[in-house]
Amino acid sequence: MSRASVVIVGGGIAGLSAAWELTGAKDGPDEYSPRVEIIEADTRVGGVLRTTQFAGRTIDLGADGFLARRPEAVELIGELGRSNELEAIDASGASIWLRGALHELPTGLVLGIPTSSGQLAGVKGLSLRARLAAARDQRVPVHMNVGDDATIGDIVRTKLGRELAYQFIEPMVGGIQAGRIDQLSAKSVFPALLVAAQKGGSLMKALRPATASAPEATGPLFNSLIDGVGSLPLELAEQLRGRGVVLRTGVAVTALRRTPSGNYPWEVDTATTTTPADVVVVATPAPTVARLLGSLDPALERLSAIPSAGAAIITFSAPRHAITLSAAGTGVLVPLGTPWTGEGSMMVTALTFLDRKWAHLRLDDDVLVRAHVGRIDDERWTRMSDDELTERVASEMRVLLPRFENTYSSVVQRWPAGLPQYYLGHDVMVTNAKAAAATIRVALCGNAYDGVGIPASIGSGRRAGREALDMARDVAL
Ligand SMILES: Cc1cc2nc3c(=O)[nH]c(=O)nc-3n(C[C@H](O)[C@H](O)[C@H](O)COP(=O)(O)OP(=O)(O)OC[C@H]3O[C@@H](n4cnc5c(N)ncnc54)[C@H](O)[C@@H]3O)c2cc1C
Repeated sequence: MSRASVVIVGGGIAGLSAAWELTGAKDGPDEYSPRVEIIEADTRVGGVLRTTQFAGRTIDLGADGFLARRPEAVELIGELGRSNELEAIDASGASIWLRGALHELPTGLVLGIPTSSGQLAGVKGLSLRARLAAARDQRVPVHMNVGDDATIGDIVRTKLGRELAYQFIEPMVGGIQAGRIDQLSAKSVFPALLVAAQKGGSLMKALRPATASAPEATGPLFNSLIDGVGSLPLELAEQLRGRGVVLRTGVAVTALRRTPSGNYPWEVDTATTTTPADVVVVATPAPTVARLLGSLDPALERLSAIPSAGAAIITFSAPRHAITLSAAGTGVLVPLGTPWTGEGSMMVTALTFLDRKWAHLRLDDDVLVRAHVGRIDDERWTRMSDDELTERVASEMRVLLPRFENTYSSVVQRWPAGLPQYYLGHDVMVTNAKAAAATIRVALCGNAYDGVGIPASIGSGRRAGREALDMARDVAL
């Protein structure tokens, strides 16, 4: 039996995870495993996962942690033999900026949504009207017919009122996605919310975890790695090379050509090379899939409709005497449209207290704070130089934090289109695209399809790897 050839386009965490699966996952490759080649446009693997040296340590410039209670990332790290490098988050809670002051977020929220009106009693920045809206949901909930899907905004605004929706819930849910709750599909982004809304009755009650009967989840909520999350794709790439995977960086795939009359059904073109393939895994952002494959099927062309939000992250190191953080918690959320004295609204959507979250980043002399800017409809950061952006963000931090003096060093990282947006109809679009791809021996993976975030992207990559393995076996038989 001859070995099949699989080319993976894109060496982000999804593409690398697909390669891990194609080469036997934890057991390693055998004589039937396909030849695997990964082609990555950037000069390094990892996509939006990246580390740099800053202020005497290795810091992440993309994701700095991942959900620990989803299995995918923790399992992969275990299979790579790196479980001992997992680090549990070392702080909990957060604050929110409301009416010109910081307020501690209550515990027991489900992705930013209260599960009882009592939780809001201590949040002084909310109006009486907002509290009454929560109390009403508990006693005489608003009826809502959500059908098969609705936007997160529609659900929380109808059930809990505008203030809670936009001032309290959007900063968390919309912030994670860099999107607007009025556009994001509950079914695709926050399925538990859709299920809760479909039950009718109180949204808050329906969102309460069924902890009375279920065993309590244990272990940390989030993990990082002691060398940074960005070390994960590097380690994975290293082990893949050891398994004989060919990894080419700094070369973009320019075309995927079907060659049914040749020995292989596909030819994968870069500017200077052509690689024949039996199966192709495409692990790039969705618009690239549409560009490479859209002419072959309308369902693949439709992927061009998945927009992506850009974001920038500005990390500050400030001497301990020059900065005071809010008393507790991992950071600060800032609602959209928060007035800014200079002009318009604040640009910062959240602050993360990096060395409070992660023990490996803690040093005696300084404090690390990371500011997030950018949403799907706020691209002001793209029109500013790094210096202008840093100065603007620092001046907002001087308002948001109890103390932040003008003594710091900083690093700016821009992610022009890092966060795909899942709008209504996303699930159908993805199902149709994957089905169309499968008929031409292509598997799709990445954070445009099955969820944004590291665990979801690893899961997506591994599923695509298994699909590609099945397709490759069909070829080899
Ligand atoms: C600022 C930011 C913060 C985040 N924070 C968190 C967090 O804290 N926790 C969490 O779990 N998740 C977080 N995420 C999300 C998470 O990082 C992503 O969902 C995940 O890393 C996406 O991986 P991917 O492989 O699907 O995509 P990508 O990382 O985008 O990889 C796609 C790859 O395809 C390559 N490519 C594109 N076109 C071509 C071509 N023509 N030829 C060859 N290669 C090509 C690209 O160069 C890229 O390397 C964050 C994301 C961002 C942007």
